[in-house]
Amino acid sequence: MLLLGFLLVVLIKPYYRNDRIKTIDMISHTMESLLLKDNVEKRDIESAARTVIGNNVCAIIYNENGSNIYYPPDSLGQLCMLDKNITINDEICNIRDNPTKIIEIIKNENPFYMTLNSQYTDIEMLLYGKQIKTNLANYYLILNTPLEPIESYIDFIMNQYVYIAVIVVFIALVVAFFLAKNISQPIIKMKNEAHKLAQGNYDAKFETDSFSEINDLASTLDDATEKLSKVNDLRKDLVANVSHDIKTPLTMIKAYAEMIKDISGEDPIKRNEHLDVIIKETEYLDKLVSDMSQLSKLQSGVIELSRDNFDLKECINKVVLLLSHVINEKHIDLKLDLDDCFVYADEIKISQVIYNFLSNALKYSDDNSTIEIKLRNSEDNARVEVNDNGSGISKEALPYIWDRYYKVDKNFNRTVNSTGLGLAIAKAILEAHEAAYGVESELGKGSSFWFELSKDYEEER
Ligand code: ATP
Ligand code: MG
Repeated sequence: MLLLGFLLVVLIKPYYRNDRIKTIDMISHTMESLLLKDNVEKRDIESAARTVIGNNVCAIIYNENGSNIYYPPDSLGQLCMLDKNITINDEICNIRDNPTKIIEIIKNENPFYMTLNSQYTDIEMLLYGKQIKTNLANYYLILNTPLEPIESYIDFIMNQYVYIAVIVVFIALVVAFFLAKNISQPIIKMKNEAHKLAQGNYDAKFETDSFSEINDLASTLDDATEKLSKVNDLRKDLVANVSHDIKTPLTMIKAYAEMIKDISGEDPIKRNEHLDVIIKETEYLDKLVSDMSQLSKLQSGVIELSRDNFDLKECINKVVLLLSHVINEKHIDLKLDLDDCFVYADEIKISQVIYNFLSNALKYSDDNSTIEIKLRNSEDNARVEVNDNGSGISKEALPYIWDRYYKVDKNFNRTVNSTGLGLAIAKAILEAHEAAYGVESELGKGSSFWFELSKDYEEER
């Protein structure tokens, strides 16, 4: 608006001047073509001139004899120079009272232009004269117009400008307010939340009620925050669990070794008992370390699958045999419902998954309960299910059991041979096989762990 105002003030004068000169030329041109027609009457000239000669111009038309054939009450009023004494070529003349002089001048210089100052207002005026020759007679058209906008005209424009400026500024404020509300505010809020997040505050909430792109961004960031927060929790768990899991067996080993040294060294029965504890604890440490290294290798993709065609039913039976002592110890009623089925996969790794599913089922089932293993052979896949009636898993814990070091029981009641890595390893193995897997479980009722090996690979071979 400031630029517009500036241009208005600076350009209004040259623009107006240009416009006036064009108008004068246009009037002259139109009148000439009218007078050149045959049989024009004074009446025709008058009515035509009245429509052509508009605002801010005063005019006289003379014929050759110097009698005026058109001199209306003009629109310039006091400004009009045609009835005043003016100086042309150093001679004072009054165009209305004494036309002969101006007619002489126009005859010499056709068309005739001259600028002069109105003695009343100091405004620069244009005086224009033109001889129009027709077959019947000669006419003299004399026009007079101001070359600068008169004060009232400038005032009018400036008033308009002020009104427009007020309206535009008002609209701009309203628009700016809405833009700020809908774009800047949510972004500022998100920036603050991001700052919180950067300082490790995972309560940061990016949610906004802004337009869709910002909403998308906000929900992506919320998602990222949730994941970061989970990673952070896992990290804390990891450090707590690993240090605990390593420290406890080490303490036991140290304690029992000291006992053997001080007390049971001479007593072979006691000594063997104590040595058994030491061996069990070292086995646990061994399992922990090898599980950890296997998982990290699997997750970083270092280990390649060595796929081959093998009998999945036989593989399950082997795992059952491996765990038969636990099954017998706990008097578990194990039901096997196995189809004949060959798959193309890494046999050792798949048996590891089944081992973990079954050992979990045994670990989390009471004595004398039932466990069922199903193998279903269908056209597209082989589905293995391990169902138990054990403790089950709560809804809250269910999404996390596949994470490493996750144990539902956080009290660190360490049962030997429970690292919390089993399902994480199973997950990594199944994902490497691009197998579908999952769990259905209800607290107190039991769990059903399953996976499906696709048969596509078999065909590819
Ligand atoms: P690891 O398998 O390394 O010896 P783990 O059995 O404790 O240790 P995962 O096999 O990864 O670890 O299982 C993670 C957690 O999921 C377990 O600690 C247990 O809380 C829960 N869980 C797994 N299987 C079952 C199941 N069949 N019934 C109830 N809870 C289960
Ligand atoms: Mg396990």
